[in-house]
Amino acid sequence: MIEILKDFLLNLFFILLPIFIIPLWMEERNISEKIKHHILTTSAAIAIIFCITFPVSFDEEYMFDLRQIPFWLGGLYGGPFASIFLCIVTIGYRSLFGGKGFIITIISAIFQTVISVLLSKKFITLSSKQKILLSFVLSAFSGMLMIIMVRLLYGFSDFFWTMWLVYLPIQPLSMLLTCYLREALQANIEVRKRIIRAEKMEVVSHLAASISHEVRNPLTASRGFMQLLEQHHLPLEKRKEYIRIAIEELDRAEAIITDYLTFAKPAPECVEKLNVKTEIERVIDILRPLANMSSVEIQTSLIPFNVKGEREKFQQCLLNIMKNAIEAMPNGGLLDIYVSLNKNNILIRISDTGVGMTREQLERLGEPYFTTKGTKGTGLGMMVVYRIIESMNGTIQITSEVNKGTQVSIYLPLIQSLPYTSSTGKEKILAY
Ligand code: ADP
Ligand code: MG
Repeated sequence: MIEILKDFLLNLFFILLPIFIIPLWMEERNISEKIKHHILTTSAAIAIIFCITFPVSFDEEYMFDLRQIPFWLGGLYGGPFASIFLCIVTIGYRSLFGGKGFIITIISAIFQTVISVLLSKKFITLSSKQKILLSFVLSAFSGMLMIIMVRLLYGFSDFFWTMWLVYLPIQPLSMLLTCYLREALQANIEVRKRIIRAEKMEVVSHLAASISHEVRNPLTASRGFMQLLEQHHLPLEKRKEYIRIAIEELDRAEAIITDYLTFAKPAPECVEKLNVKTEIERVIDILRPLANMSSVEIQTSLIPFNVKGEREKFQQCLLNIMKNAIEAMPNGGLLDIYVSLNKNNILIRISDTGVGMTREQLERLGEPYFTTKGTKGTGLGMMVVYRIIESMNGTIQITSEVNKGTQVSIYLPLIQSLPYTSSTGKEKILAY
């Protein structure tokens, strides 16, 4: 009995280990949703393989273990393809061991796959409690089905009764624990994300006070240089220099105010239908002189999708991102702007081949006054970007590698379909 319990605990360890480690590991990295999905399915497959390799030692012919748990969870959370993949892994790996139980593996794996495929879409929309309950019921059901199959195929034996008493309660209870922990951990990660965001907003609400201070500095400097200009016998060279500095300081004050005002305005004021292609082209026109100055080549692949938002804010947002990209390439490079459709969202991807950012810099991006550009930067640009994208119900993902470049991906909800001419010139009608 103790032996059996030990084996069950070992199985449970293989299942719980990835449940704890992988989400935390992924949270710290900038991994796309698709890759996350693949990692979770693969970890379920590995847990299945470990469970089969170290079974609960009931009998020579039958291998009983908790593989059904990662199978259910992987399939229900991962969707149809994950279920089919896990089914192939289970049957394929179990076939290496042979024995009477193999036929039961095939039947129960197919049963689990069919049910997971049917339920997975609905499953991910359920509340945590409902998910836990459903997993518990499914696991109890599949456990019972397996025991009935053993009875039908091989008749009664001592072994059959041990299974009723041990396997039947342990599998659903382990499932309950696993699913509960998975959901609790996920909820924790969500709360942490929300806290970080709330903290950012908290700082921002204090900005109003500090902004006056930020603006006063360049104004005072500018005033000082103007006073110096009053001197009568000032050489022309000096005079020109003072004027240049005064203008620079005033520009700085203006940049801070513009960035802040865009940010501080709370709700969208004049929301309209915006054509992504037109807006991007307008911003590129504004930025072209700056790009030329740093020998930055601009490459585009645009499609005229529509989004909803305020024109000025949207332009400001694109401008801030592209300006950062150009500023990251002082010795030239490529600024690539690419628009495509991602499910019901529009993806605007702005990539540069510039200096990139370290992980610490990437984490601080969007924090007020975070800049690596000294007095030339305001450190408000990205904060404004986050705010604008949020107000347009969009999301933003940024990846960056030092000395390789940065990629900013903006996802915005698409509104209404429209016929368009693709950049290759072919007429297409979009249907979604
Ligand atoms: P600012 O541009 O005034 O410094 P931002 O909020 O626009 O303020 O950007 C903050 C910081 O983020 C920049 O100083 C820079 O270090 C970093 N950054 C933003 N975009 C990029 C980029 N495309 N490549 C490299 N670094 C970037
Ligand atoms: Mg900037």
